[in-house]
Amino acid sequence: MSQQSTVIIIDDDPLIRLVVSKTLQAAGLSTVEAASGEEGLRIFKENKIDAILLDVMMPVGMDGYATCTELRNLPEGRHIPILMMTGLEDLESINRAYEVGATDFITKPINIPLLSHRVRYMLKGSHTTQQLLQSEQRLHHMAYFDDLTELPNRHFFQENLQQMIGLAQRKNLKLGVLFLDLDGFKRINDTLGHHLGDLVLQATSERLRKSIRVSDAVVQTAASQNDIALARLGGDEFTALLSLIERNEDAAIVAERIRVNLAQPLTFGEHELATTTSIGIAIYPDDGNTAEDLLKNADLAMYYAKRNGGNMYCYFSSYMMEMAVRKLTMENHLRKAIERNEFELHYQPQLDVDKACFNGMEVLLRWNSKELGSISPAEFIPLAEETGLIIHIGEWVLRQACIQAQVWCSRGIPLERIAVNVSAVQLLHRGFPAMVGAILAETKLKPQVLELELTESALINDVDLVISILEQLKSVGVQLAIDDFGTGYSSLSRLMNFPIDRLKIDQAFVRNLEQNTDNGAIAAAIIAMAGSMKMKVTAEGVETNTQLDFLKNKCCNEVQGYYLSRPLPRDQAEAFLLKKLCE
Ligand code: C2E
Ligand code: CA
Ligand code: CA
Repeated sequence: MSQQSTVIIIDDDPLIRLVVSKTLQAAGLSTVEAASGEEGLRIFKENKIDAILLDVMMPVGMDGYATCTELRNLPEGRHIPILMMTGLEDLESINRAYEVGATDFITKPINIPLLSHRVRYMLKGSHTTQQLLQSEQRLHHMAYFDDLTELPNRHFFQENLQQMIGLAQRKNLKLGVLFLDLDGFKRINDTLGHHLGDLVLQATSERLRKSIRVSDAVVQTAASQNDIALARLGGDEFTALLSLIERNEDAAIVAERIRVNLAQPLTFGEHELATTTSIGIAIYPDDGNTAEDLLKNADLAMYYAKRNGGNMYCYFSSYMMEMAVRKLTMENHLRKAIERNEFELHYQPQLDVDKACFNGMEVLLRWNSKELGSISPAEFIPLAEETGLIIHIGEWVLRQACIQAQVWCSRGIPLERIAVNVSAVQLLHRGFPAMVGAILAETKLKPQVLELELTESALINDVDLVISILEQLKSVGVQLAIDDFGTGYSSLSRLMNFPIDRLKIDQAFVRNLEQNTDNGAIAAAIIAMAGSMKMKVTAEGVETNTQLDFLKNKCCNEVQGYYLSRPLPRDQAEAFLLKKLCE
């Protein structure tokens, strides 16, 4: 049986000495009390003491820092665990505590359930880490704190979370893990420089500290009994650990508080920065019972908050896990889809309105996965873009489309246009125009037959770069169209700068043309303005005769939609063209 450990409590406040003493005794420790630093030192020299609890603020005589320094200068005091009790808001005093040699700190008002746990942890550590402790206490600080923001670091967070899980388990209480990520931080860093980025991170940590002050009534009600421990994981990622909450909703109150505080614009010199934050919340034990799972799930919830527009908090749900798993599975299968021959091209005919016959085809990719069945491009294309797989897949689509168009030409089905969708990722990928040129040369398709459908979002990037890419493509000889026009950011006048041949009016404006006069007006305006800029117009998503008539009336050049034909597999597309292709 190991001997009972003795802890000395040095604090000028008798009430705190009493409460702390009772708490530690209940946890099986024996205690001695001292009302001042001087008394504490004397008792320490005369007795066998295993750990010290030391108040920082003692107005009469030696304060906590002086006492700690003295203790460390004693031969028996060099390795003794010292837990300092500091004010919560005051990082300076925490830093100073480490400087004078504290092993750990606990904030006041003291979280009683946490206290004996901390002391035990410290006692346990003191046996195994004796040698380590001989190196400077400063090392402790470096190992647990982040230089830039002075917040505890990932290491600290993980250890702390692990400890708190143990405690919450015994007390049958909950924990809330908040995972924070600044919205658009990368852009600030890239465009305004790392120095400003650092300032933003520092300002953010300052605001985080303010957001969790106990003096704040909102926080107090949400988390009356608990500690909120902040940390910076790295980059623009922060965490807040809410210890021992009773209800899951408590986490939301704190998260909302943080969100509002961090959404205030920041000013640095002439720069005013609108910075917002996405926050994910995971609750112990509901969403996991290891530190790793909780952090991962809070991260996943953060990702959803971000994907839904940012500047919000989001609770983790098992649905997110399922989606994440599906995504991962899909990504794995997508990687092998080309070699397994699971892709197929479908072709949707485009009607030349004037001539009342078909003159073009849009190529639409289909994926029939052996494991997952048929998956909509609306689902797998974004994934392919995110993972970069689109580069490889897009090249495959382009090559197959050109081969097919050339086969049709050689069989006496001379298409005027084969339209291929191109993602922003592809367009901006180095060497894209050269790749297009190479495929045309390889397949011997006439360049002017190939039309590339670009989305508006591809054009809002670096304008000079985009113009130079589009010009290279024009010199290869292909046609350029803007897909889904009207939904994005570009105004027609902005488009003047780009060498664009065609606009495709988004389906949204064609839908309900009959009932919705706004949609009709927008579609008519796009057609008229495009005409004045010498661009052609295609309307897509035409599903009724009324829509077709309306578009005819407004002199839309081409139309495409289920009313005329669904996208067709190759053989059906060929049969369709044989009958209905313009002479
Ligand atoms: P998108 O380029 O806007 O393609 C038009 C989508 O509308 C197609 O869906 C088409 O089947 C559908 N559609 C055509 N007519 C009608 C209609 O009358 N009514 C309705 N409700 N829908 C109609 P799909 O094939 O599911 O493709 C979805 C999106 O996936 C495409 O939108 C395109 O952005 C992307 N995509 C498809 N194939 C490729 C590809 O090879 N490369 C790239 N980068 N993206 C592709
Ligand atoms: Ca398209
Ligand atoms: Ca479209």
